[in-house]
Amino acid sequence: MTNATLRHRVADRLDGEVRQCLECGAPTEEGKPFCLWHVESMPYVAQLQARLERAVESAA
Ligand SMILES: [Zn+2]
Repeated sequence: MTNATLRHRVADRLDGEVRQCLECGAPTEEGKPFCLWHVESMPYVAQLQARLERAVESAA
């Protein structure tokens, strides 16, 4: 196997990691389980937002 073949195989693998949004089925980038519109459904984003809201409340 040549280096070029290896590179092609890696590229194929990365392409294969594209997923669909769990909410609406739209194709997502970087293998994310949610599209741009539903990325807020991701638990870690919700946690970040909750933390942000608490920080804003305590600063007010
Ligand atoms: Zn979606």
